[in-house]
Amino acid sequence: MKITVIGTGYVGLPTGVGLAELGNDVVCLDIDENKINTLKSGKVTIFEEGLEELFKKNTENGKVRFSTSFAESIPQADLVILAVGTPPNPITKEADMKYIKAAAESLAHHLQGYTVIAVKSTVPVNTGTAVENIVRQVNPTAEFDVISLPEFLREGFAVQDFFNPDRIIVGANTQRARDLIAELYAPFKDKSTILYVSRQSSETIKYASNAFLAMKIQYINEMADFCETSGADIYEVAKGMGLDSRIGAKFLVPGPGYGGFCFPKDTNAMAYMGKFNGVDLSLIETTIKSNERRKINMAKRILDMVDDVKNPTIAVLGSAFKGGTDDCRESPALQIIEIMLAHDVQIRLYDPQAMDNTKAILKDMITYCNSAYEAIGGADVLAVLTDWPEFKELDLSRIKQLMKRPQIADYRNTFDCTEAKNLGFEIKSLGRKL
Ligand code: NAD
Repeated sequence: MKITVIGTGYVGLPTGVGLAELGNDVVCLDIDENKINTLKSGKVTIFEEGLEELFKKNTENGKVRFSTSFAESIPQADLVILAVGTPPNPITKEADMKYIKAAAESLAHHLQGYTVIAVKSTVPVNTGTAVENIVRQVNPTAEFDVISLPEFLREGFAVQDFFNPDRIIVGANTQRARDLIAELYAPFKDKSTILYVSRQSSETIKYASNAFLAMKIQYINEMADFCETSGADIYEVAKGMGLDSRIGAKFLVPGPGYGGFCFPKDTNAMAYMGKFNGVDLSLIETTIKSNERRKINMAKRILDMVDDVKNPTIAVLGSAFKGGTDDCRESPALQIIEIMLAHDVQIRLYDPQAMDNTKAILKDMITYCNSAYEAIGGADVLAVLTDWPEFKELDLSRIKQLMKRPQIADYRNTFDCTEAKNLGFEIKSLGRKL
């Protein structure tokens, strides 16, 4: 199948490369010339486990190409996938549709023959209809269907998730479009559920799923806080809860708050849609507020550990919103750092993959280090804010030697508390017995 993916970011690039690996001819199209030039020069623009190998293979054999030209990339396509950003409106927090609308308009001019336009971006209900109207207005004779094809990949596992989706949701109103999607996903038909629903249901499934997951994370975070006051251990509690098949064992790990490009913006967009439609979505609204408070609490807990030190040095491990990605968008780690920077502190940071993205945001406000041990050197407290597996390998004895004061705020529960305490650390972690 000939496919053009519009938007070559955290979703578009793994999707394009994955579809090429399945044997399709793919063009990844973006308006960002720098990005496309970098990709054309053979460099991957994001960090994702396993992506580089697939990228290399499928660019070398010509299955995936890169372009900034709609005129060159749209006419031959059987399927056009929209994977552009839908960032929050800074005031209302509703999903901003400007990139979707612009892409729909640009592609509409160049449609030739029957084309399925699949909206993979996370978009408000009835965006499918809006895209259809735009395309029809620009090109009244075009033969096309607009479908909703929401993306459920997890950053850090994008390649794995592409090839092993739990489910594929297809919101399509015509049999012709459903048939094309059935052909596209034929390689997955024995291992994943492909669910065909209406466009509106499909658009809602994405938001309803993300809001539910955000609530689940915030719920276990609150239970972790409760465990700290009750003598219970959050891991024992989560295990006991997770054995109930109605609850499930996943997403029951406490942390410093949910973040990333999806959960914060999608919960906010859902809350906005509730208000707009006159529906009480107070569970989601409470989750958003509780998550915001959590990051302030996390920063305060770290600052409390050094409130007797003048101009303390805080070593921070991790700035990506979670391990396995270089994505810092809405990262709780960065938000906690920003709150701490409002006080008189020095911050020394190390992240295995997200240093460039962090520098673009925090500029010269903090010190950037080349390793975890370099960041820890001379620190009054160490804060672990991202769950990179390599942080678990750090040697606590060496950390103790490097620090000015043996204090750890372990908000990813990286270290063994007993070992840390035996070595003389003061350690604060989440929901564990100390
Ligand atoms: P991104 O910002 O990484 O990538 C979006 C890309 O679209 C950018 O490269 C941008 O230059 C390009 N773009 C913008 N306007 C364009 C236009 N008119 N024509 C061509 N290209 C254009 O965003 P992302 O993280 O890949 O997210 C894309 C969508 O997928 C969003 O709606 C997001 O909510 C959704 N989503 C993201 C994830 C995730 O984990 N990142 C998961 C599921 C769904």
